[in-house]
Amino acid sequence: MLSVKKLTFSYNKSPVLNNISFQVKPGEHLAIIGESGSGKSTLLKVLYGEYDLDEGHVFWKDQEVLGPKFNLVVGYDFMKYVAQEFDLMPFISVEENIGKFLSNFYPEEKKARTAELLEVVELTAFAKTKVKILSGGQKQRVALARALAKQPEIMLLDEPFSHIDNFKKQSLRRNVFKYLKAKNISCVVATHDKEDVLGFADKMIVLNQQQIVENNTPEHLFKNPKTPLVASFFGEFNLINNTLVYAHQLKVVNHSELKATVKTSYFKGHFYLIEAELNGKPVLFEYDKALASSEVVCLSVVK
Ligand code: ADP
Ligand code: MG
Repeated sequence: MLSVKKLTFSYNKSPVLNNISFQVKPGEHLAIIGESGSGKSTLLKVLYGEYDLDEGHVFWKDQEVLGPKFNLVVGYDFMKYVAQEFDLMPFISVEENIGKFLSNFYPEEKKARTAELLEVVELTAFAKTKVKILSGGQKQRVALARALAKQPEIMLLDEPFSHIDNFKKQSLRRNVFKYLKAKNISCVVATHDKEDVLGFADKMIVLNQQQIVENNTPEHLFKNPKTPLVASFFGEFNLINNTLVYAHQLKVVNHSELKATVKTSYFKGHFYLIEAELNGKPVLFEYDKALASSEVVCLSVVK
């Protein structure tokens, strides 16, 4: 398994990660979440051995992952990393990029493997297309497939679906995570998108101010958010009597002490998000219809 022990890292004295420890078991999926600039990408790069640590250790099984000072060629066969900025070979085709690191010694297997991965990332129709003319999202899918080509034991993915449009994103995400689970490949995903976490990640780490502030299952953290940071990751929320309450946990009832004056209704698909005022402070709740501005409604917390 991946063992991260008391890892501390800074870029030229400005600290980014401080005393980080966690583990990822074979086949387990871990999400790393945090605000922009919280160090998610840095953590993945450090796990990959791109930088030397100030302190601490990273192990995959018995092998220590070493930085450039001790390991001249960055990276190991058991681990693949898909960066936020992916570097592909622009002048060769999608299938050539995916198969680039596969041996030509077994042409039939290479062909089958490439075809399988093209299906996972839904690019079969683009097999012969030069990467140069692909969109950002399509390039991201090629980078994912290429990283999977040699069947790593662990994948490090940095915002892996961020460039992919909503039409493709949902099914692609399911394909990729299902594939990783089926092959028992461990996975560490840096993301700020709850859709990359819910339903897929076994565990979730929250980074804030250089440290891990939470390490638990997504379900536990969703149901028991202790800080606005965690709650805001999952959705709109309110602080009512010092308790974090998601917008969907505030219901309109016939009578209650909580009387809110409606300001704005936002159409959200299967519900409306209502912005209102409660005791002089803004409050957000969900309702199945739009409400008229200045209408007064009674609210109740239903958890
Ligand atoms: P995230 O991926 O969570 O947005 P990053 O890991 O990219 O965060 O960045 C964490 C912090 O490290 C930020 O303050 C960022 O400005 C800084 N940083 C990132 N890369 C470098 C670098 N190559 N040199 C110096 N500082 C960097
Ligand atoms: Mg990043």
